[in-house]
Amino acid sequence: MLTPLSNVSTRPDRPAYFQSLAEAIRDPDELLALLDLSHTLAEPARQAARQFPLLVPRDFLARMQRGDPADPLLRQVLPIHAESEVTPQFTEDPVGDRAAGRGAGLIQKYGGRALLIATGACAVHCRYCFRRHFPYADDPAHAEDWRAVLGTLRSDDSIQEIILSGGDPLMLTDERLATLVDRLGAIPHLKRLRIHTRLPIVLPDRVTPGLIEILRSTRLSPVVVVHANHPNELVGDCAKALRQLREGRCAPGGEGEARPITLLNQAVLLRGVNDDVDVLEALSQRLFTLGILPYYLHQLDRVAGAAHFEVPEQRGRELVEQLRARLPGYLVPQYVRETKGKPSKTPII
Ligand SMILES: *Cc1c(COP(=O)(O)O)cnc(C)c1O
Ligand code: SF4
Repeated sequence: MLTPLSNVSTRPDRPAYFQSLAEAIRDPDELLALLDLSHTLAEPARQAARQFPLLVPRDFLARMQRGDPADPLLRQVLPIHAESEVTPQFTEDPVGDRAAGRGAGLIQKYGGRALLIATGACAVHCRYCFRRHFPYADDPAHAEDWRAVLGTLRSDDSIQEIILSGGDPLMLTDERLATLVDRLGAIPHLKRLRIHTRLPIVLPDRVTPGLIEILRSTRLSPVVVVHANHPNELVGDCAKALRQLREGRCAPGGEGEARPITLLNQAVLLRGVNDDVDVLEALSQRLFTLGILPYYLHQLDRVAGAAHFEVPEQRGRELVEQLRARLPGYLVPQYVRETKGKPSKTPII
């Protein structure tokens, strides 16, 4: 299970996002009260949160519609009774990550790129998270030391791209991230540094000048893949943070040379959130406005507790076809599923 962040320091010399993390909502009753929603949702939420705790940053909550229990952002984070239903084929390790491990903290399934589990922590708990049951506690890589992972990477010159994942890799402080990126940059055959993160979406103040400096100064070509599922996520502080990231500049007119950062988005096709062609179109349009291209639309991984989010592939195909008729090809994400043992994500066409 993802490790919730419990004892975050809020010393004044810390970046503001530490405070945002510490103040994130963890109590279902509080979440419902802030949204003027009925208490009848509270008991099932409390129960489901025992399996996988509720965690919602306040900035993300501020983008939800009060009084609407079907709000697409709320639906992604509110624990509900359906999570406890047992559905055949929905398992604890749906994508075979445990088998693909190359030693603690490193997963390689595909040629030329490897995925580094930088930390088990995350700033939000998406109810459909495919890592909700991942045994991070067995994984020594989030205990300060990437020595083994770096050794494996150094000895395999077929790997050109390192993908930082998690949990969310931006849960590492800028100091730790800088150390890791420095060490990765010192591996001669690595060319690209990719970061898979949802923090710029759910916790925009994580986009610190320090983070931009790390991406701006590394020898590796940086690619940031964010994770937004609905256009309503991409407003306010979040839009501002994404623009800064895109421009590779700490502040408008900030010091030093800007280094524009390649930004891509991956979304998960989710019932009741974005299984609607108007929503998907608006998502692509909104992303483009912010300088982000849609990359993947993922078929939901069949993780236990998330069956109620599944959209049948036939329906997904129809949606993507409709999207293709409305948008230029570069704004249509690749609709893919992940299948155990395959050499890449599998396009669904
Ligand atoms: C999804 C994934 C990648 C990245 O695949 P791309 O198609 O390059 O985006 C790499 N490693 C693992 C283990 C993955 O699950
Ligand atoms: S942001 Fe990603 S890692 Fe974090 S809970 Fe959501 S899906 Fe899981």
